Amino acid sequence: MKSYAIGIDLGGTKILTAMVNRQTGEVLASVKKKTKKEKGPDNIIRKMKESIEELFEETSIKKDEISSIGIGAAGQIDRENGILIGAPNLDCYDLNIRDLIQDYFKIPVYLGNDVEIATIGEMKFGAAKGCDDFVCIFVGTGVGSAIVKNGEIIRGATGTAGEIGHIIVDLNGRPCACGAHGCLEAYASRSAIEKRIEGALKKGRYSVILDYLEKGKSISSSMIRKSIERDDELVKACVDEASEYLSGGIASIINFVNPKLIVLGGGLIEAVDYFYKNTIKKARAKSLPVPASKIEFKKAELGDFSGVVGAAFLEDRKL
Ligand SMILES: [Zn+2]
Repeated sequence: MKSYAIGIDLGGTKILTAMVNRQTGEVLASVKKKTKKEKGPDNIIRKMKESIEELFEETSIKKDEISSIGIGAAGQIDRENGILIGAPNLDCYDLNIRDLIQDYFKIPVYLGNDVEIATIGEMKFGAAKGCDDFVCIFVGTGVGSAIVKNGEIIRGATGTAGEIGHIIVDLNGRPCACGAHGCLEAYASRSAIEKRIEGALKKGRYSVILDYLEKGKSISSSMIRKSIERDDELVKACVDEASEYLSGGIASIINFVNPKLIVLGGGLIEAVDYFYKNTIKKARAKSLPVPASKIEFKKAELGDFSGVVGAAFLEDRKL
């Protein structure tokens, strides 16, 4: 059996590519490149090829030692045909990533989505290692999740199961990017918190976050953390509100799926412990008593690497 695979995490703003040892989960080398929406699909394919070539050079691992290239993309995908159906953040539509990379390197390529690869990473070598019944929830720009039952990801009839971000938490609520109203993502993501803070600042509210803001740049998770450490009233209120909604969504998952474990990850969870701790406390309080007494919570452990490590296992189709 070949020991190595290449994992690619194609996000909304960057491509992270890594050479992964499939036996140990070790990342031998990694390359990060920025993506720009306006540069379109050709630029993405070119950067992926360059990244892969850089990895071969850096590790001296040969093509015939690689079992596959696994790609997880932030967007709608067609797993069977290896097509990225739609990724608005990248301005990519109907892009046959699999064939373009496979024909070039002559190595089998498998396509999955970003949440799925991060979940596989945590299941293989991270917080969910040894657990075959759990839900992973990632909170960052959006809110994504994947459900694992008997060691397999539940994909549903059209491959979209686990879309916790689009659970409706307010029937007449805020508009969501998906076209519906009141989706959890519009309340509990970093972007949602950012919008709330910006809205309040525009109305003249004061916050210490002004000390960190740069013109034209968005509010990052670390700016939120620093403001909370300084006990900022406005940022705390916005984060508390997001936590209230997220804990409601998580309680619904606990009652509906009844998993053994919930792993929480993503930029906002990693950076803001206050948010993580409050959310799990509230989620337990909002769940039915029996599952609430048994549910275990853990923070994701692989950080930025969960996706690339998981992508190296997309070839094990059943995952
Ligand atoms: Zn939605």
